[in-house]
Amino acid sequence: MSIAIISTGTELLKGSVLNTNAGFIGRRLGTAGLRAALAITAGDSPRELFNALADALKAADTIIVTGGLGPTRDDLTLAAVARFFGCELHSDPRLREKVEQFWSVRHSGAPAPKSVLRQALIPTGATIIDNPNGSASGIRLDITYAGRLRHIFLLPGPPREFEPMFEAGVLPQLKMLLQPEEHEYTAGFLVLGCGEYSLQVKLEKLLKTFPVTLAYCARPEGTRVFLSGAEEAAVNEAVRLARSAIGEAAFPPGELELIPAIVRELERRNWTLVTAESCTGGRIAGAITDYAGVSAVFKGGAVVYSNELKHRLLGVPEELLAAHGAVSAECAQAMIDGACLRMEADCSIAVTGIAGPGGATETKPVGLVSIGVRVREQSEVREYYFPGDRRTVRERTAATALSLLCKLLRTGKPEEIR
Ligand code: ATP
Ligand code: MG
Repeated sequence: MSIAIISTGTELLKGSVLNTNAGFIGRRLGTAGLRAALAITAGDSPRELFNALADALKAADTIIVTGGLGPTRDDLTLAAVARFFGCELHSDPRLREKVEQFWSVRHSGAPAPKSVLRQALIPTGATIIDNPNGSASGIRLDITYAGRLRHIFLLPGPPREFEPMFEAGVLPQLKMLLQPEEHEYTAGFLVLGCGEYSLQVKLEKLLKTFPVTLAYCARPEGTRVFLSGAEEAAVNEAVRLARSAIGEAAFPPGELELIPAIVRELERRNWTLVTAESCTGGRIAGAITDYAGVSAVFKGGAVVYSNELKHRLLGVPEELLAAHGAVSAECAQAMIDGACLRMEADCSIAVTGIAGPGGATETKPVGLVSIGVRVREQSEVREYYFPGDRRTVRERTAATALSLLCKLLRTGKPEEIR
């Protein structure tokens, strides 16, 4: 099966909306051992959509189009696809009822305008992909083009509508379209604090004789490793070998994320976590709370950018700040201790550093960061130098702090982390 993705929307080309749908499709296809051959972003005009369809159909027999199914003038996807393939459109009674009701509930019982009722149109012979979170439905069209059967999936653009629809209504259908010889099994896991190149050197030699292919995805906290192959047993055996060669830094199969792993470790012991952040300004707390269901273990945190608040909120002694400065191992230690004590938690993370571009001194360059993590009575404080711009320093500081905590929770002893 060859797949192409078309993301529609002039706003994506202008950069005013980030194209997260294409990335989502890529990641979800990966779980089924699939990948797209081509991804195109096209503006909202019939000509651009036509060109995109023509290019996509040269490369693929399955095309996933997102966006442009709404009721506004720039929503042209369905009309363009119907014209391209020469299909008739008709109003589906079940969809019409849904669209009318959707409108009426949100507009005090008023009837839906004609442009909104366009959302009930489908090409003759197409099937509907349910949208539980919005008015525009998805459409699957199976049609012969240039002598080959093609599968065209049209989905709305808003990620909160598109993502569940892709998951429930498209991915299972793609799996069914796969030929038996195309089936591929993929397993992945995260390796903390290890770069992709050194992993490749280690694993490629180790798994030379296995019928698996390896893929790596660099992350600020380490590397995600994916192993794929036609035989599930061979992939699982290769994963087992790879993980035992890597050691404790390798997460269990299927675990690709750092924060859920931390949360699980905390939940298991019924421990709580707090954060005290200077140079990351709340980024670590923000990253933790991006995940739903962390409230049982994450109490919150303090953003202590100034020395005054490091002292007042966390009890970092003023003399310590005067003697060692805020960017020091001593300060990071006082921050984790103060955070656990004042916010009454079992574990804490503290970071203090110079993210730049200003703020460097003769002895303390931009990129110098002190990170502390505490798990009950055990604590670990390290100093790092992260070269790069402000964004890089802050990203690496947050990822490293979370990795250190994860290691201390998992092993009781954080080893050297990049
Ligand atoms: P609507 O009924 O909301 O108009 P639609 O199917 O017509 O849905 P679009 O008009 O293309 O979709 O996009 C609606 C909104 O969805 C965009 O403003 C944007 O915020 C978001 N969106 C569209 N495509 C993408 C994408 N590829 N990645 C992320 N967000 C997207
Ligand atoms: Mg729209």
